[in-house]
Amino acid sequence: MPALFVGHGSPMNALESNRFTEAWRALGARLPVPRAILAISAHWYVGASAVTAMARPRVIHDFSGFPPELFAFDYPAPGAPDVAAEVAEVAAPMRVALDAESWGIDHGTWSVLAHLFPRADVPVVQLSIDASKGLFEHVELGRRLEPLRRAGVLVLASGNVVHNLHRIDWTQPHSGFDWARRFDAAASECMTSEPAAAPALSVHADFAMAVPTPEHFVPLLYLAGLADAAGEVPDPFVDGFAYGSLSMTAYAVGLRSTVAGAG
Ligand code: ZN
Repeated sequence: MPALFVGHGSPMNALESNRFTEAWRALGARLPVPRAILAISAHWYVGASAVTAMARPRVIHDFSGFPPELFAFDYPAPGAPDVAAEVAEVAAPMRVALDAESWGIDHGTWSVLAHLFPRADVPVVQLSIDASKGLFEHVELGRRLEPLRRAGVLVLASGNVVHNLHRIDWTQPHSGFDWARRFDAAASECMTSEPAAAPALSVHADFAMAVPTPEHFVPLLYLAGLADAAGEVPDPFVDGFAYGSLSMTAYAVGLRSTVAGAG
């Protein structure tokens, strides 16, 4: 089963149709139907690793200042308590707690799944991002998740390689600042050659501007770990920028070998 990192950008992407959402939709149409989706979203950034383990996860609208139709958006995918237990098992001895009630499916997950799997009929579990872990530990946890791919679980890491909300420039919806382009290019160079070295991007000269807070960058490290464990390198399947300071680059691992007709 492939594994993905998607730059999710604005929550409005759930409702919109643009170059990025069309790429997500086209990819979704080519993907094998997974047994379940394990989503690692920038928007569940807490003090521990936990996985949603409820049968019916709630849909969380974790933002403000967006139109009512976005708050009305529903993604009624079932949960998968059995898959949650498998996540905890493969991660051991790294601890992943089973979350029975605190979280659900947040917009980092559903804004992308709205296009990848619009019918919301594949069970979804979410893995939190543990804010107390270092960058290498996230890569390591990503490595440990690799066996889930062979058990039919599609891993979707959702963040943004470059994500600086303080620098957003609404006058340039389709371009990126020079520093954003430089950092995204460096990340791409690393991910497509030696993904396990992704934590070293933290010493890049543009890291502080591109990654002022870690939560949107860290999901990339999970794909880096998954790729490293499989001896594969991720391929970008869409790239570009939004509002100067967001990179929308998305990567896939295992796409060529698992998608019928892919070259
Ligand atoms: Zn986000």
